[in-house]
Amino acid sequence: LKDANCIFCKIIAGEIPSNTIYEDDTFKVILDASPASKGHALILPKEHYADIYEIDEETAGNCHEACEEACMPHDGSARLRRF
Ligand SMILES: [Zn+2]
Repeated sequence: LKDANCIFCKIIAGEIPSNTIYEDDTFKVILDASPASKGHALILPKEHYADIYEIDEETAGNCHEACEEACMPHDGSARLRRF
């Protein structure tokens, strides 16, 4: 499901370049273009949701997993500081 006017759908589709730090079947995690702090990342579901209330529970649950994968790489080196 895509929304032609949605900036995040364009990032997912690669129409807008982004600094991707993690990606799986459901999510893409990118560094924010105007970070509020060092390592500020955005986790984007690949499906378009108008707001957080539209996200089903399974996807929301997987979000946590994707966050951990993105923040804690398996080689043990921390690419991102956690705040
Ligand atoms: Zn969208």
